[in-house]
Amino acid sequence: MSKTIQCISPVDGRVYAERRALPLDEARAAVARARAAQAAWAARPLAERTRLVMAGIDALGAMKERVVEELAWQMGRPVRYGGEFGGTEERARYMASIAETALAPMVIEDSDSFRRYIAREPVGVVLIVAPWNYPYMTAINTLIPALIAGNSVVLKHASQTLLVGERLAEAMHAGGVPEEVFLNLVLDHATTEALIGERGFDFVNFTGSVGGGRAIEKAAAGTFTGVGLELGGKDPGYVMEDADLDAAVDSLMDGAMFNAGQCCCGIERIYVHESLYDAFVAKAVAWVNALRLGNPFDPDTTLGPMAHERFARVVRAQIAAALAEGAEALIDPAQFPKDDGGAYLAPQILVNVNHEMRVMREESFGPVVGIMPVADDEEAIAAMNDSDYGLTCSLWTRDAGRAAAIGARLQTGTVFMNRCDYLDPALCWTGCKETGRGAGLSVLGYQSVTRPKSYHLKKVKT
Ligand code: NAP
Repeated sequence: MSKTIQCISPVDGRVYAERRALPLDEARAAVARARAAQAAWAARPLAERTRLVMAGIDALGAMKERVVEELAWQMGRPVRYGGEFGGTEERARYMASIAETALAPMVIEDSDSFRRYIAREPVGVVLIVAPWNYPYMTAINTLIPALIAGNSVVLKHASQTLLVGERLAEAMHAGGVPEEVFLNLVLDHATTEALIGERGFDFVNFTGSVGGGRAIEKAAAGTFTGVGLELGGKDPGYVMEDADLDAAVDSLMDGAMFNAGQCCCGIERIYVHESLYDAFVAKAVAWVNALRLGNPFDPDTTLGPMAHERFARVVRAQIAAALAEGAEALIDPAQFPKDDGGAYLAPQILVNVNHEMRVMREESFGPVVGIMPVADDEEAIAAMNDSDYGLTCSLWTRDAGRAAAIGARLQTGTVFMNRCDYLDPALCWTGCKETGRGAGLSVLGYQSVTRPKSYHLKKVKT
C-alpha cells in the first residue's frame, strides 16, 4: 500500500493537503527520466537556459496571491508579510546575473601550441531536499544555479509545505523549463535515502535539521555523491558599548521573532555589554510586548502560530527547563491570549540565563531569546563560540575595524555588522561545525552544482 504524506495546518490543526508518496520503483523511474533529459538541456545555450528559468521566476511572481494564502495555511506565516517572493526573486535575479562569469572556463593558455583551460560542467542530476521554514527561498538557492548550469533537478520538499514544490514546478514549466528537467517528487525519507544510496543523484543539497543532515550524509556514504548541508543554528548577537541601541533592539528582536523565530539565521541568544544591558532589556521587552500573536490571515497579526504543534512543544520545554534552573521570564504569556498550548505560542525573553541551559545551547527555532550581559569583547567572543553551531553572528558597533577583528575570531559562516537574519545572494551562504558544510549562493554556489573538467589541447603545427 502506498504511503500518504499530510500537511497539518497550524492555523486550525486540520489536514490542509495530502499527497501519495511515490513508491521506490516509481521514484527511480522518475529520476531516470530526469537523467535522460539532462544532456539535451545542458546542450542548450546558457542564455536560453537562463531566460527560461527566469521566465519561471516571473510565472511564480504571478502566483503571488495564491502562494501567500497557501503559506499561511501550511506554515502559519502572517499574510501581512506577503509570502517570500521578494527574497526569492532577488536571489534568482542575482544568480542569473552572475551565471556567465561563474560558469566561464578558466583559461590557462591559449597560444599557437596549446589551448589549456578548466571548464565547469553540470554534475548531472541534482537533488534538493528543502525545509518548510522559508520553503521558496531555501529551495531557490540551489534550484536556480543548478538549472542554469545545465543540470536536471529533482525536488523533495518538506511535508509541512507540501504544495510549494508543486508551485515551483508549475512556475518553471510555465516558464519553459522542460517537465523532466525539473521534477517535484513527493518522497518519504526511506525512499529519498534509498535513491541517494543507489547513486541516483550527482549532488544533493540538503537544508534542514542536523539529524536530517546526518541521515543524508550516511545515505550518501560510499557513493561519492557530493552533499551540501545547510543545517541548524543558534545564532548570537553581540551589542557593544558603542552600538546604536535602538537599531540593535529593533533588528535583533525582529531577527529573534520574525516567522515565529523559525529562521535558520534567526537570533537565538544575545550578549549585551553591561553598560547597555538594562536599557537593551527594557527596550526589548517593550518591542516584544507590541507583537500581535494571532491567526495569520488577520492583517494585524505580526506573529503567527509555529508551523506545527510539535515545534511549539520543544520551545515550551526549553523555556520550562530554563525557568526551573533559575532563568527569569520577562514576558507575561497572559498578554498573548491566543497562546493555546498548541501551535500558537507567546513570545518570550529570558534573562538570568547561562550556557548550562538548553535554551542557550540547543536550537530553539521559535519565538524565544535569552539575553546575557558581558563585560568585554573577550567574554562575548568566548560566549558566541561556545556553541555546537556556526551559521551567523551579528555584531553591533560603530567600529567596522573592531567588528572585522572580532569576526576573524568567530567560528561562523557569516559575520554581520549592524544587521542580522539576512541572506545576501552575492555572498556565500555557509556554516561550520554542526551547521554543516554548504556553500550556496554567490559565484561559489555554482561550484557545487558543476564539476571542473580540464582540457589540455595540443595544437598540430602546420
Ligand atoms: P528537517 O526535519 O530536517 O526537514 C528538512 C527537509 O528534509 C524536509 O524536506 C524533510 O522531509 C527532509 N528530511 C528530513 N530528514 C530526512 C531523511 N532522513 N531523509 C530524507 N529526507 C529527510 O528540518 P525542518 O524541521 O524542516 O527545518 C528546520 C531546520 O532546518 C532547522 O534546524 C533550521 O535551522 C534548518 N534550516 C537551515 C537553513 C540553513 O541555510 N542553514 C535554512 C533553513 C532551515 P519531511 O518534511 O517529509 O520530514
